[in-house]
Amino acid sequence: TKYVYLFQEGDANMRELLGGKGANLAEMSKLGMPVPNGFTITTEACNKYYEDGETINEEIQAQIMEYLGKLEAETGKKFGDAQNPLLVSVRSGARASMPGMMDTILNLGINDVVAKTIADKSQNPRFAYDSYRRFIQMFADVVKGLSKKRFEEIIDEVKVQRGIKDDLELTAEDMMTLVERFKEFYQAELHESFPTDPKTQMMEAIEAVFKSWNNERAIYYRRMNDIPSSWGTAVNVQMMVFGNMGEDCGTGVAFTRSPATGENKLFGEFLMNAQGEDVVAGVRTPQSIDQLKEVSPTAYEQFVDICSKLEHHYKNMQDMEFTIEGGKLFMLQTRNGKRTAQAALKIACDMVDEGLINEEEALLMVEPQQLDALLHPMFDPEALKKATAITSALPASPGAGSGQIVFTADEAKEEADSGKKVILVRLETSPEDIEGMAVSEGILTVRGGMTSHAAVVARGMGACCVSGAGDIEMHEEEGYFVVGGKRYNRGDWISIDGSTGNVYGEKIETVPAEISGNFERFMSWADKARTLKIRTNADTPRDARQAVEFGAEGIGLVRTEHMFFEGDKIKAIREMIVAKTDEQMQAALNKLEPMQQKDFEGIYEAMEGRPVTIRYLDPPLHEFVPTDPEDIKELAKEMNISYDELAQVISGLHEVNPMMGHRGSRLDVSNPGIAHMQTAAVIKAAINVNKAHPDWNIEPEIMLPLIGDLKELQYVKKMVTETADQIIAEAGVELTYHVGTMIEVPRAALLADELAQEAEFFSFGTNDLTQLTFGFSRDDAGKFLPEYYDAKIYENDPFARLDQKGVGKLIEMAVTLGRQTRPDIKLGICGEHGGDPSSIEFANKLGLSYVSCSPYRVPIARLAAAQAAI
Ligand code: PEP
Ligand code: MG
Repeated sequence: TKYVYLFQEGDANMRELLGGKGANLAEMSKLGMPVPNGFTITTEACNKYYEDGETINEEIQAQIMEYLGKLEAETGKKFGDAQNPLLVSVRSGARASMPGMMDTILNLGINDVVAKTIADKSQNPRFAYDSYRRFIQMFADVVKGLSKKRFEEIIDEVKVQRGIKDDLELTAEDMMTLVERFKEFYQAELHESFPTDPKTQMMEAIEAVFKSWNNERAIYYRRMNDIPSSWGTAVNVQMMVFGNMGEDCGTGVAFTRSPATGENKLFGEFLMNAQGEDVVAGVRTPQSIDQLKEVSPTAYEQFVDICSKLEHHYKNMQDMEFTIEGGKLFMLQTRNGKRTAQAALKIACDMVDEGLINEEEALLMVEPQQLDALLHPMFDPEALKKATAITSALPASPGAGSGQIVFTADEAKEEADSGKKVILVRLETSPEDIEGMAVSEGILTVRGGMTSHAAVVARGMGACCVSGAGDIEMHEEEGYFVVGGKRYNRGDWISIDGSTGNVYGEKIETVPAEISGNFERFMSWADKARTLKIRTNADTPRDARQAVEFGAEGIGLVRTEHMFFEGDKIKAIREMIVAKTDEQMQAALNKLEPMQQKDFEGIYEAMEGRPVTIRYLDPPLHEFVPTDPEDIKELAKEMNISYDELAQVISGLHEVNPMMGHRGSRLDVSNPGIAHMQTAAVIKAAINVNKAHPDWNIEPEIMLPLIGDLKELQYVKKMVTETADQIIAEAGVELTYHVGTMIEVPRAALLADELAQEAEFFSFGTNDLTQLTFGFSRDDAGKFLPEYYDAKIYENDPFARLDQKGVGKLIEMAVTLGRQTRPDIKLGICGEHGGDPSSIEFANKLGLSYVSCSPYRVPIARLAAAQAAI
């Protein structure tokens, strides 16, 4: 097997094998752009490394050495040579870019001899030893896991001893001191000396990249983003070019368009006399890319030209890294840039207008999940007017966030777990903060630019972020910060506006989002492209209206029990539960019926004639009564019965396994009155609303839950049709209604051909179907699933992303069987999976008519359905 490729041997299509970075470096070389020579070790080599029990086997090692030889021949330099040494960078590069993995080691191949040669040859000893000390630092950090902080402390000590403030004031001698101090520290910590053999350095670095594929942060990121662990990462080894060799050298990162707003303008930052990580680490504040025009005009012109070529070539906004050495430009990376949801939509629309892409290509450019960020509240403009900003910094990732101050990612997790809203305030963030960032309402950093870690990751997550708030004086350890002379403590409320960069020292109310402008235009393309209909799960007129705002074409699931908890309904339900005689039971149901009817009228009104599927009472009845003795006592008093009587009824409802117990249509089999009551309410509501709005022509869709047998379905359906037909006849109107079933029990899927004799439609309740297929509870699985992820048994939560292999097989079978009996049977999904893009793709593949999801997921589902259809 070929495990190593020179850049010129690859291209952009080889992403699976070469990783994103490697494939794009190859592509840029092919396009004739100035890319330093190098080679890529494939993702297959990474997988082999794990297969072989975490060792790089001899075949791969030999190929690496062979390609190192080729690189030496190409560059005319030699690795570890005392005359003309070759230094390289070693960088990871998975198929999808993945923060949280080992990123970069620069200046690899340096040791005492090489450093001296570089110092002599470049006539720049400061540069040589600066490179050396950086290498030790990076190697120790990413290969050996020594804390970066300790090295920074050593630098600070030397600066104090020398009475200087800025890193740039460190002299060549200071750098040499740092090299020695770093090596001593390394030895003391690890009980081994720093490796001086460049080949050892290289193999260890490559292994560290492979290992980082399975570190905790990378695994977490993969799970959040549905990246399979089987992909593996590639490793890129590339000849170093130096941005830190003097004032005509520098390094930077840039986007072809603004990643925050999408504005069509080159966007980026650079630092002269600096190396890669200086720009993103936020240690020195970088200059804006426009200023490069003055500092290094030729390189700037060339860079602008390359940017435009790359954008046209990839037909997408590019995120690039470059280095300037001695005035000469080199490209180190290009990739499709991460961007905020706003930016994604603007770029997609602009590129269509520019004729660069068509509407379908535009649709494929936006991650459905990203739209979520646009659906969430913004600051209430009125409340915002009254607030004064305490400081303002870079608008790194848009959105509004209000929360209580926390200073560490761990604190953020803790507080968020206990239900608090938090804003994570950090000097700067690093990859280990990712989980804390994910649970925060927003992220505020003191250091760093638009391309800092915090900014990039926040944009990826759709979290709002303000970065580089240099006015803030941090006292992280003491738990406060000071800005504008005022102190803000841990737990105090602040608000940040990631669209303006403003920070407010108070809580600010927010208002809901709306779909307009680019968003509206983009969604209209999605609606043109998709064939799958999108419905919503809604139980109140308010949710129903919100969903319609977001583009829902109907309701796929009204969970009627959700209506039972409010007002007088819960009382009536409880009366029904404790009823001892048929008369008492009927009396309670008689109270419930008009209330249910009103509920349904409200929903029909809100949906203005769009189809609505009403699902009959589903949960076990114990959910409607208290369990706490005090509460039982109170309720007994309220209901005018004895404590003992009520307690007995309640204990009678106890089930060992209620989710597999007396629920769903089983309730109707035991208490036909419930089905009769709900039918009367539905039919009367439809008749009434149709009277007021004849053009809506509502046809009620009645859905029976948890059916597992044809006779069961017939039995309950008969209750429905008897009541419905009688009411319709008495009213003297024409009303068509439909009765269908949920497919939630595996047996229903297996016998779908039989059920289709009676059911006019199937709606897959994939929550219960998943639960009953896996045989683990949707409410409790969260407790042990993490261990299944760790053990790589399951890669993700089957309740969030449909298990196509198992549950999907049942669905597919039910679809086929159902259509055999009833070719025009209407099919949909109404479990949580109805809002999950990969599950929507599956639904589209099976040719279902619709998916139904919660209101806030409707736009995501519309886009996912469009992408599935393209
Ligand atoms: C389901 O089981 O998928 C479903 C939609 O019903 P519920 O979530 O109410 O059990
Ligand atoms: Mg269910």
